[in-house]
Amino acid sequence: MNPVAQPQTQQKQLFPFLDLHAQFEGIREEVMLALQSVFENQQFILGPEVQRFERELAELVGCRFAIGCASGSDALALALMAIGVGVGDEVITTPFTFIATAGSIARVGARPVFVDINPDTYNLDPKEMEALITSRTKAILPVHLFGLVAPMDEITAVARSHDLAVIEDAAQAIGATHDHRSAGSIGNVGCFSFFPSKNLGGAGDGGMLSTNDSEVADRLRMLRAHGSRTKYHYEYLGLNSRLDTLQAAILRVKLRHLVEWTLARRRRADCYRLLFTQAGLTESIQLPVEPPHCWHVYNQFVIRTRHRDQIREHLSRAGIPTEIYYPLPLHLQPAFSYLEYKAGDFPHAESASREVLALPIFPELTEAQQQSIVGAITDFHRAKE
Ligand SMILES: *Cc1c(COP(=O)(O)O)cnc(C)c1O
Repeated sequence: MNPVAQPQTQQKQLFPFLDLHAQFEGIREEVMLALQSVFENQQFILGPEVQRFERELAELVGCRFAIGCASGSDALALALMAIGVGVGDEVITTPFTFIATAGSIARVGARPVFVDINPDTYNLDPKEMEALITSRTKAILPVHLFGLVAPMDEITAVARSHDLAVIEDAAQAIGATHDHRSAGSIGNVGCFSFFPSKNLGGAGDGGMLSTNDSEVADRLRMLRAHGSRTKYHYEYLGLNSRLDTLQAAILRVKLRHLVEWTLARRRRADCYRLLFTQAGLTESIQLPVEPPHCWHVYNQFVIRTRHRDQIREHLSRAGIPTEIYYPLPLHLQPAFSYLEYKAGDFPHAESASREVLALPIFPELTEAQQQSIVGAITDFHRAKE
């Protein structure tokens, strides 16, 4: 498969793809006060500030327990370890996601087994799953891609009938819901990331696990700290993967704004829909879908078009930044060549990787900026006619 062409012309950008400077301007005082108090206490690993954040996140997700860790990638690995997935096991997941999803499966010694996606939602297609289940299958790992919850009713039904665990990769979907159940509270364990570009982003790496199972929660708390409950006594082989107190302090400040920021993202998504409709472009450009009973949190606003690379180039020349999530599905990545998949195995994931384009979406994006983005795409289509 061809590597994705990068835009040839690098024009000065009119605005960034994600404007974290603008966000910081709104919360500067609160963040600085929170940081100061951590330095006054000089406790930098776990501690009461992390516990408070864990309680707040558990409440937001609607789970009994939340356990902080060092990153979303570690959350995935810890979740697999806590439910006992290891060497020789298989885990079913999507090939159209960030590397960490399937990478975490390989990291614990298990084998990622890919299933194709639904071309409208980009989430894994549960219809194809059952045929892939073997005696080695231990878990299903759906991703709530771009902020839209995967079809959890179908996934949990298949999991239940084959006695499999469900681990949710909710890295992009904090606060997203389906039938009033939040991402991360539906399966056995939910995994969150606080990478700066996520809807709730820290000042560095951070992650969180959510579960309603007290035994799993207990194991997760040990596994993130070398597998020990009592200092220098080890019940499991774990990781060093704790949430920094500084990150927790910053994330607690930002958490207070999350609902308002999510609503702002959704309003920008609505604005894009209106602008694309007014421009008469909804035939040539596929917009993100929000199925009934779903609450999309738009970590990304991803459009789909056959002219993806040309439009991207055109926008870049106009100073408008875009991104491609994801240019090469995981089953075709060199790092997974040992799994022996080939081009054509997952046609929906492969064509999505050639046609998707993420447009800027963040709470501070202005309507004028959105008009300039849709205007530039409209110009591209006019010029082609
Ligand atoms: C960001 C992300 C991760 C990994 O999170 P990190 O905190 O960067 O390790 C995992 N899965 C998905 C789908 C992500 O978007």
